[in-house]
Amino acid sequence: MSASTTCTICQTELQGDYCTSCGQRYLGRRVNAWDVIGGWLSGLLAPERSLLGTYRQLLVNPRYIVNNYWSGFRGYYLSPSQLVVYMLFVFGLHLALVNQNILGMEVNVSGVSDSLKAFLSPQLFLFLLMIPLLALSTAGVYYRQKHSFPEHFTAAIYLFALWATLFTLLYDMLYLLLGIELGPLWCFAAIFLWSARVFSPEGTAWYRVLLNAVLSILMLALLFAILLGIAYLLDPEGAIEQG
Ligand SMILES: [Zn+2]
Repeated sequence: MSASTTCTICQTELQGDYCTSCGQRYLGRRVNAWDVIGGWLSGLLAPERSLLGTYRQLLVNPRYIVNNYWSGFRGYYLSPSQLVVYMLFVFGLHLALVNQNILGMEVNVSGVSDSLKAFLSPQLFLFLLMIPLLALSTAGVYYRQKHSFPEHFTAAIYLFALWATLFTLLYDMLYLLLGIELGPLWCFAAIFLWSARVFSPEGTAWYRVLLNAVLSILMLALLFAILLGIAYLLDPEGAIEQG
């Protein structure tokens, strides 16, 4: 029953609550009844704490959070893929309890077989398409900063997941309380404004940030036009319909 003095994973001598080598936490005592109850409570509350911290920082200082991830720091703020999990959770609640629109949009995919339609649901299609297109548009507009594509891609996931989640929560609140339906433009405007905040160098004047946001919206429109052109050439009858 004596307290351990070395880490059970890497055998490093313990000098505090956390192993200095592998980061394993040591409580300094054996398991007790509180661990059984408290483990569940902290399991529910701890991700929420880092979730709210990540959202708050992404709203206030998006460049810092995205740069932190690009630089290889992990575990304190949530990663882009973790935000996607929360976004899908919010989407799921929204689809089950409110309505079938995603981001204020009703999206129909025609020209695919019924069996494929179930797999390639409009929501999944939109989701899979939006993030690479957003990454391509920032790669085009901010090409001079020489960021790698994985950097553009992870920034796109962060900003899309942030605003898709917040927009869906706001949409549902306004829809359920006041009967107002928010249009998708608000969500996309916010995503592009925040991506301009991430990619514009520090100290950029606000009107330049705004201009960068407009430029990347134009870039996205161009990419969409090219994609629709390709879809039309491949299948003139059943191009993607949006409405
Ligand atoms: Zn260790």
